[in-house]
Amino acid sequence: MRLRIDRDALAGNWRTLDRLSGTATAGAAVKADAYGLGVEHVVPVLREAGARQFFVAHWSEVADVLAHTSGESTAVLHGVANAEEAAYAKATGAIPVINSLAQAQVWHAAGGGTCHVMVDTGINRLGLSPDEIGSAEVQSLEVDTLLSHLASADEDSPKNDQQLRSFREVVATLPARQASLANSAGIALGPDYHFDLTRPGLALYGGVPRPELDGEIKSVAEIEAAVLQVRNLAAGDTVGYNAKWTAKEPTRIAIISLGYADGILRSWGNSGALHHAGTVLPILGRISMDMIAVDCTKSDVTEGDFCSLFYGLPQAAEKSGLSQYELLTVLGQRFDRTS
Ligand SMILES: *Cc1c(COP(=O)(O)O)cnc(C)c1O
Repeated sequence: MRLRIDRDALAGNWRTLDRLSGTATAGAAVKADAYGLGVEHVVPVLREAGARQFFVAHWSEVADVLAHTSGESTAVLHGVANAEEAAYAKATGAIPVINSLAQAQVWHAAGGGTCHVMVDTGINRLGLSPDEIGSAEVQSLEVDTLLSHLASADEDSPKNDQQLRSFREVVATLPARQASLANSAGIALGPDYHFDLTRPGLALYGGVPRPELDGEIKSVAEIEAAVLQVRNLAAGDTVGYNAKWTAKEPTRIAIISLGYADGILRSWGNSGALHHAGTVLPILGRISMDMIAVDCTKSDVTEGDFCSLFYGLPQAAEKSGLSQYELLTVLGQRFDRTS
């Protein structure tokens, strides 16, 4: 099975998000192996498009990004928990995002140096609280970027404005080279949210978290899988585990080499379909670990042919009941990823 990454769409999405960021520049969130698409495919394309600031969550993700960058910055959102992580940061040049007073102390104890600071303005996840920003440990950090993260940027929520106001107050009290608030959806909230640096993730990879981005963002991931076998069913025959689908009439079915171990979860079974040469092949019965059965009565598809699974994220999210983020990060290791 193949997972093709459309390089032009990916590069185009970064340029679009950079343009929509106005006077701010766009970075790129490439955590979780570039949202499941593969750092080795994604980072070189984003770099070529112009991205210079990359974000991962874990220290274990740094080496992969460094292998595909030179001179660009890589920041670690989870920050430094202990002396080993601080030493690794120093050795690699990756920049820790300081999220707590304890992390600030760890970083000072390691000798300090350039870091980012995350302030929590209301998502109540990671970050210093605004009233900790005045403390000596924080004020004495060498802050490159002051960050905060929006909780509800994909909705029209009063929370967005509340977080914006809280972030502005903090920006005024902590000297930093740049300030950064917006994720993909935040970019679409307009110039007030852009500051100096935006941090898109989802929309780079084809996600559309807000209607303003509809038509601007192109789909990036394409999925294809081979037909393992074709069989002919008689009326009354059933398909798959627990016999959840019964043929009402003679039906030709194809068994596709793709399953929930690849991230095509059972929730696709209710209304999902694959396609071959323009013909829709509805999914029948339960999705198995390694196989999906489809109705190919109206198709001349045969063993060895590749069928595609439409993976446009907004529509796929509706069909599967998964979030656009989950649809990307759930994709398994067995795909032949190409770009
Ligand atoms: C994941 C993440 C992003 C990217 O968010 P998207 O919604 O995928 O654009 C930006 N900033 C932080 C802190 C993140 O954790």
